[in-house]
Formats: sequence, C-alpha cells, structure tokens
Amino acid sequence: MPRENLNPFKIAQTQFERAAESLKLDPGSRKVLSMPKRELAVSIPVRMDDGRIEVFRGYRVQHNIARGPAKGGIRYHPGVTRDEVRALASWMTWKCACLDLPYGGGKGGIVVDPRKLSMGELERLTRRYASEILPVIGPEQDIPAPDVYTNSQTMAWIMDTYSMTKGSTALGVVTGKPVSLGGSKGRDIATARGVQFVLREACKDRKLKLAGATVAIQGYGNAGGTLASLLHEDDAKIVAASDSSAGLYDPKGLDPKALHAHKEAGKPFKAFKGPKVITNQQLLELNVDILCPSALENQITGANAAKVKAKIIAEAANGPTTPMADDNLFKRGRTVIPDILANAGGVTVSYFEWVQDFSSFFWEEDEVDKRLERAMVKAYRNVAETAKQHKCSLRDAAYIVAVGRVAEATRLRGLFP
Ligand code: NAD
Repeated sequence: MPRENLNPFKIAQTQFERAAESLKLDPGSRKVLSMPKRELAVSIPVRMDDGRIEVFRGYRVQHNIARGPAKGGIRYHPGVTRDEVRALASWMTWKCACLDLPYGGGKGGIVVDPRKLSMGELERLTRRYASEILPVIGPEQDIPAPDVYTNSQTMAWIMDTYSMTKGSTALGVVTGKPVSLGGSKGRDIATARGVQFVLREACKDRKLKLAGATVAIQGYGNAGGTLASLLHEDDAKIVAASDSSAGLYDPKGLDPKALHAHKEAGKPFKAFKGPKVITNQQLLELNVDILCPSALENQITGANAAKVKAKIIAEAANGPTTPMADDNLFKRGRTVIPDILANAGGVTVSYFEWVQDFSSFFWEEDEVDKRLERAMVKAYRNVAETAKQHKCSLRDAAYIVAVGRVAEATRLRGLFP
C-alpha cells in the first residue's frame, strides 16, 4: 500500500481537488481556492509566574474571504503547526459555504500546552496573542472563536484586548463569548447539537434507530462531551468514550453525567473507576452503530479504516478521517458525515451570535435551537441529494456544494485589480 501523507494541509488540498475535478474548475480558480489568502506568524513573549520570560509561537491564517469575513477558532495545543492551521482555515471556508453562511474561513493557534499554565499565564498569553494578531482581526474582517483547549473565557480576554486597543467595546470581534458578555444562548452546546441534528437525518436514511443505537465517542470536551449527553437524551447508548488519557468501555452503557462530573473535577478518564479501560485506537474499532471522532485530526487513516465497524461515522472533530480511509469506508458502505457538515453547528450559532451582537438584540435559546435545526437539516438534505446525483460520498458531495459556492462568489467578484 502506498504511504499515506498525513500532513493536514495536503489532505485538505486533496479533498478540495476532488471537488474541483467534479466541478471542472479551471486551473486559475483552483490555484486561488487551494491556497490561504493571508498568513500571520507571531512570537508571543509571556512573563511566567516565576519571573521567567517564555516565547510562544502563534498563527492566524485566513484561507478565503470571497463570501464574507474570515471565521474560525483558535486552538491552544502543543501539536499546532502552520500547516495544521492552514488546513483548519480552509476547512472553515468550506464549512461556512456548506451551511451557506456569509463568511470565509480562518483559523488560529498557539503552540502551547495550556494545561501546564496558570490562569494568569493563560490570560497574559491570550492578551499578547490577541494584540499580535489585532491588525488582521475585527468584526468585519476576521472573527475568532473557541477551538481545542480554548473557551468562552479566552474569547472574553480577546474581546477585551481588542476593545481596549480600539477604544470602544467591539462585541462582534469574537464569538463563543460568555452569555453575560454578548455571547449567544445555545453557543456552548451548538457544535454537538448540530451533530445530533445531522445524525438523526443520517439514521433515517440508513433506517437505523438512534434510540438504542450504540455509540462510541472519541474526545470528551466541548464537542464530544456535550454530544454524549445529547445522544443519551435521545436514548442512544454511549458504550465508549475517551479523553487524551484513556478510553472507557461498558457495553451496558456509560453515564455521561458521571463522566462530566469526573472531568469537571479536573480528573482524567484513566482515573475513572468501573468501566473497562481501552486505548483510543481500540475505541475507534469497536463494534458500534455510530462512531463520533471528537478530538483531533488523522484518527481514521489508511492503516485502521478497514477495522472501523461503525455504520455511521459523525465527525464532530475537524479532519479525523484521511482521504485513504474515506475511500475504504465508502467502499464498505459506511456513512461518513463529514466535518464540514457534521460539526458546522458551532459556526452556525457563532453566526447567530455575531448577528445578535450587531443588532444588540438577543434571542431566547429555543429560537437559536430552532434556527440551528433548520440550517443543519437543510444543509444535510442538500448534501445527501448531491451525493445521490454524483454517486459519491457525503464528504465529496459537501465539498462539491461548498467549493461550487465559493468558486461562484470568486467568479462574480472578479480578480482585483
Ligand atoms: P476541547 O478542548 O473542549 O476538548 C478536546 C477533547 O479531546 C478533550 O476531552 C481531550 O482530552 C480530548 N483529546 C485531546 N487529545 C486527544 C487524543 N489524542 N485522543 C483522544 N482524545 C483527545 O475541544 P473541542 O472544542 O471539543 O474540539 C474537539 C474537536 O472538535 C476539534 O477537532 C475541533 O476543531 C472540533 N470542533 C470544535 C468546535 C467547537 O465549537 N468547540 C466546533 C467545530 C469543531
């Protein structure tokens, strides 16, 4: 078997190229759409609690702004690289277009393990990073949001740093803020809620009952942890869940509430008593109906795809499945609900938050939820229909829809100057 290239940006470009081929895009458009529009790399000096000065590396990449301002999260993780941020930024372009949101795609990241920093260090790191990327962000320019190991507090610090520098409060510069500070009700659960809505549709298509279905969830943070609770409410049986320390497996079903309480207490899964402890790799290969990768990229690859038994794979994470794995899963009749569709609930409610900030008029949670459901179901149905027409996977179909929209916007705008 040929060796698989696991560089996330190369993978993102391969996914784009497949759609460009189906859409018969001209070579010029392909060049424009496959590369990031703007990349900023910054050094972030931080005074640590013990008086030392550390310098961290950070990035902000804007992949495309043809359909509106760049939009995308900020990740704090030791594994962040420029190519990972480029990939995540381009996935945001396609995700926003897939949901028909008036945004382009961006992403940011800092190479850091935030679990090793105190709150004070985290705040200083965040504020200095915000100040370094300040020239390229703004409510109408590029709007960050939370991603892995960042949260509403991180967004509050960025909003404050931006506002203090500009001299007036700019709520719309970030989304995923606390509700008491211009955030939207429902944003905290939106990513998982979106996955739940499209999973319900995919289950209907596969004639699989979500109630009683067995589910394995890799990653137990904002996306995965919340998803476990929501699917539990739908009477699905969460038989396995993992965090970065270990996986837990109980064929009789895990209790998401107990797992949350454990994580809230700051403890890793490997210290959770009761269920069998398994590895993240074993979790992916369990004999379950539904698998939800909800952590990081490159989890299902050419090396393990053939061992994945789940009927439906719902990508709450970005980039968990490689193109080689995709081909294997498609051939074996598995349904992969691709990241740019499955986890788009987060950016959709981020869009709602931004709209609410601009109009200074805030919605009740049921309104957010209804609008999110409408958006997710519509996008899923459009992608599923496209997949039928092209006899292709949902991923290829989602890219055909998204790339088609961005290419159209680019064509209509024309080339400046
Ligand atoms: P988070 O920081 O809230 O949680 C991350 C979780 O992943 C933690 O439980 C952590 O223990 C676990 N994890 C880390 N490394 C792991 C590993 N090697 N194996 C297994 N688990 C591991 O992050 P999040 O916001 O839930 O993001 C998770 C994924 O969802 C990312 O791919 C992110 O880009 C994607 N996503 C998040 C949002 C959002 O709104 N937060 C929206 C769309 C997509």
